[in-house]
Amino acid sequence: MGRIIYYVVFILVFSISLAGLKGLDHFIAKQVIVRDAQILTDKFQRLIQDSAKKLDELPDISQATFDCNDNVASQLKRTVFEANFIRWLGVTKNNVIYCESNEIIREITSVKTHRVSQNYSLGVVELSNSTHHELVLVKHVNDMFYTASIMPLEPSYFVPVDCDNCLEYKMSFDSDPFLTFGFDEYDGVNFVSEEVTLSSPYFNAKFELSGSYDFYKQYSTISWFVIILIASAFAGLVTYLYFRWQQHSNSAYRQILIGVKKEEFIPYYQPIVDSRSKEVVGCEVLMRWQRADGSLMPPNQFIPYAEANGLIIPMTKSLLVHLVNDIQLLGQHKPAMFFSVNIVPEHLESDELLTLVKSYIDDKVFGHHRLSLEITERMPIKDLEKARVMLDKFYAMGVDLKLDDAGTGYGGFSYVQKLGMSTLKIDKMFVDTIGQIDTFNAKTIDAIISFSEKSGLTTIAEGVEHQSQVDYLAQQGVYLIQGYVYSKPLPAEQFFN
Ligand code: C2E
Ligand code: CA
Ligand code: CA
Repeated sequence: MGRIIYYVVFILVFSISLAGLKGLDHFIAKQVIVRDAQILTDKFQRLIQDSAKKLDELPDISQATFDCNDNVASQLKRTVFEANFIRWLGVTKNNVIYCESNEIIREITSVKTHRVSQNYSLGVVELSNSTHHELVLVKHVNDMFYTASIMPLEPSYFVPVDCDNCLEYKMSFDSDPFLTFGFDEYDGVNFVSEEVTLSSPYFNAKFELSGSYDFYKQYSTISWFVIILIASAFAGLVTYLYFRWQQHSNSAYRQILIGVKKEEFIPYYQPIVDSRSKEVVGCEVLMRWQRADGSLMPPNQFIPYAEANGLIIPMTKSLLVHLVNDIQLLGQHKPAMFFSVNIVPEHLESDELLTLVKSYIDDKVFGHHRLSLEITERMPIKDLEKARVMLDKFYAMGVDLKLDDAGTGYGGFSYVQKLGMSTLKIDKMFVDTIGQIDTFNAKTIDAIISFSEKSGLTTIAEGVEHQSQVDYLAQQGVYLIQGYVYSKPLPAEQFFN
């Protein structure tokens, strides 16, 4: 099962990349074909305009006075010579040629014309023994015509073509088919087809460039080989990353769950000492992960993950079970003190912790000791009113709340006002500034102490490492000290003894 999922991920990413790349290639190819259809149409228009301009330079004629003398014939020849696209020019009427620039022998099967302006018609001549059509431009002069044969309609004159029998170009006036050229053997099954429309006072023409797969293929720039290569590499990379992510999250998550089951999350106790009497008045209960191999993992290596992944609740429960055991086993005859347990806002969102604590208190398992909760100011509490309702139930059982890491986070004033806490714990970050002069934080510690005092809260200083800090805090009226100056967090046996 585990392996199948990786195959599925690979195939899925591979297929999506394949489709994506092919789609991109197809999109680009189609854009280029649209552009070519436009170029083709522009060329076509230029061809006609250019030829019409040449015909406009010719003199007026009428059947009554017309005479095909040397002068007229050489004028026709000169026009053919000078014009870019005209190959033959004649004076005609009703299929009779009165005069021509040069003699070309061809068998005409049909001629179709369409009026494109006041004086001009466009015509298509189909020749019996030729593979292509001829385009003619007819100028109406009084009762006679100047008929010009324009260049043969060869696809390669218009668009780059590297394929055989692969394209067709169609033109229709007001949706009547007028001209189709391309390869005679083109089977008419379009793989791509793009249209361009042109409107003038005399006509609405639609130009359509269509082609087979071979025609389309010359526009497709990324080969299947490259597409498969890129898609495979990408799918491989994504599968590998997915595998790594699974491995990481699976193992961390599962190992913590196993750890909870095996009761590997144990409390260490850090004394909180009254600096005046040097008596231990309480302690902070700090979690450690005691692994099966005997190693001890500090909380910063697993708590953030546990908090982010909804695992902290069962872990705290497991911690409380140990705490109760330790008290029952080692703490019953020790002087009364509080045990301060760290909680997160999530703990106040459900009844789980409350129910467990209530059962302990009903069973009097703490004896003459007290349970206390610590909530950090670093995490936001979504609904303060709801949290207060929950906290009041703890307060009613004699469990108080301490604000941890005061001064570092979100809560500040509003937490103190709305949550009804008993104690403020000054963060080590501010205690560290004692003895420094004139930094912002150095002034902050005095402000926090004064705020705590004015709010009628008890103050605990955390992370106190030196006697000089103890002395300074005492001067400010802060006597409850937690820190290495007195003790590091200790295992149960050491702490209670
Ligand atoms: P915290 O709640 O701020 O706990 C105080 C931390 O400061 C503890 O680190 C403690 O060992 C350390 N500390 C105390 N005095 C000193 C000192 O003088 N010098 C120095 N350098 N450090 C001192 P610890 O035990 O590593 O815990 C780290 C954090 O892990 C705690 O910070 C708390 O946020 C979290 N944590 C620990 N146990 C639990 C728990 O059961 N539940 C939850 N949610 N978080 C916990
Ligand atoms: Ca704490
Ligand atoms: Ca703290």
